[in-house]
Amino acid sequence: MAGNCRCWCGECSYRTAWLSEEESAEQQARHFAEHHPGVAPSHRVEFRAKKHEGAGCVVVVALLLLLLIVLATCQYQSGSASMPQLDAFRLRG
Ligand SMILES: [Zn+2]
Repeated sequence: MAGNCRCWCGECSYRTAWLSEEESAEQQARHFAEHHPGVAPSHRVEFRAKKHEGAGCVVVVALLLLLLIVLATCQYQSGSASMPQLDAFRLRG
């Protein structure tokens, strides 16, 4: 299960997978005990903020699509409203 937090080892380039804050801290602690015994534990925590960015992108795309639909509808209405009237006028005359 993917989380939004991962820990970077303070001693080497190791980093945990995206996990929950608790799980990544636990995995980092295990890594530190195995690879850096006797060294004071140090790590950096990184949080992923992609979920919000993704939602924002979806909202922008949805708004653009809505705008496109509105514009297309307006164009269609103005185009189709005038043409049949002209045809009807021509048929009468
Ligand atoms: Zn390490």
